[in-house]
Amino acid sequence: MAPEPDPPLLDISDLKTHFDTQEGTVRAVDGVSFTVPRGRIVCVVGESGCGKSVTARSVLGLVEEPGRIVGGSIRFHAERPADSAAAADGERPADGAAAGDTARPRSVDLAALDPRGEEIRAVRGGRIAMVFQEPMAALSPMYTVGDQLVEAIRLHLPLSREAARARAVHLLERVGIPGAEGRMDAYSFQLSGGMCQRVMIAIALSCDPELLIADEPTTALDVTTQARILDLLTEIQKDSGMSVLFITHDLGVVAEIADEVVVMYLGTVVEQGPVDAIFHDPAHPYTRALLGSVPRMGAGARQRLASIRGNVPHPSERPAGCPFHPRCASAVAGVCDTAEPPETALSGDRRVRCVLHGGASPAVPAAATAEGAQA
Ligand code: SF4
Repeated sequence: MAPEPDPPLLDISDLKTHFDTQEGTVRAVDGVSFTVPRGRIVCVVGESGCGKSVTARSVLGLVEEPGRIVGGSIRFHAERPADSAAAADGERPADGAAAGDTARPRSVDLAALDPRGEEIRAVRGGRIAMVFQEPMAALSPMYTVGDQLVEAIRLHLPLSREAARARAVHLLERVGIPGAEGRMDAYSFQLSGGMCQRVMIAIALSCDPELLIADEPTTALDVTTQARILDLLTEIQKDSGMSVLFITHDLGVVAEIADEVVVMYLGTVVEQGPVDAIFHDPAHPYTRALLGSVPRMGAGARQRLASIRGNVPHPSERPAGCPFHPRCASAVAGVCDTAEPPETALSGDRRVRCVLHGGASPAVPAAATAEGAQA
C-alpha cells in the first residue's frame, strides 16, 4: 500500500473569527478554508477590510478583544521538535536545559488553544513567526536590536547568552545588515525603515520557524526597499525550505513571490489556486476586477485605470446572498442577492465561490455562466 502523503503544514478549515460589538456581531472571518503546503509561498490578497489580517492573527492567537475564534480549526502539522534549530547549528543547550524540553506534539489545532496559554506561546515565535507591517512600531525603542534578538532566541531555544549572541550576529548578517556586530548595540530609532524590517525578519527567523507569516511587511517601505525585502524573503524561503503565508493587497507583490493565491472578500475566500492559473485565467468576477485595476506598462497615457465600483461594505453590513453582488458587473438578479454561492472545485487545484461556475444554481440562466459565455 502506498504511504499516505504528508498533510499540508497548515490546514485552515471553516475558520470563523467574530467580534461582538455594541452594534452587533462583526463576522470579520466567516468560514475561511485553505492550506499552506510545505515549502510554498501562499499569498492572501484582497482589499482592506476583507479579513486577511484577522485570518493571519487567528493562526497565532493574536486577535485583539472583543474578537475571538468561534468556529472551525487551524491544524498545524509541525515537522520537527521546537529545539532542533539549535541542534542543527551544533549549538549546545544552556546548563540545566535538556534537548527536547521545548518539544510539543507534532499536530495541533491552534484554534482550540488558549490564546494566552503556554502551548500557543511555544508555537508563536518558535515554530510559527510573524513579521508585521510597521517595523518601527514592532521594535522597542527602549532596548538595543541585539537585546531584542537575544531575548527572542533564548525564549525558545535553550542557549547560553554567548551562544544566543553569536546566533543573533549571524542572523543580522543573513538578512544583509552590514557591520552586524556593531549594529547589535543600535536602537531601532537609529536605523532606517528598511533596516528595521530586516531586524524584524532576523527576529522572526531566530528559531528557524517552519512557517513565516508576513502581514503586509513592505507596505510602509519605499519601492526600492520593498523590492530588496521581497528578494530577501524569497531567497531565505528557498534556502530554508520554510513555508510563508504572505498577506498583501498588492497584486504586483503576489505576481513576484506567490506559488498559491487565496483571494478574500468580506471575510470569505472567493477564489484560490496556483498563481499562474489565477493571473492568466481568473474565474471570480472579484479577482478579475482586482487584476483589471492594476496599472500596466505600455498603457496609453489617456487610458483610464479601471476601478471596482463602490466600496467594501463594513462586515457588520454584509449583503445577503453573494457578498460581492452589489459591486459585481456579472450579478444575476434574483440569484446572486438571495443565497450565498457554495464553493466549486475547478480543474488544476482551483476553487471558486460564484454561481457562474459549476452550475451552482438552476436559476442561473445558461448564458450567464462561465461555460455559457464561452459557447
Ligand atoms: Fe457576481 Fe453572482 Fe458570482 Fe457573486 S455569485 S461574484 S454576484 S456573478
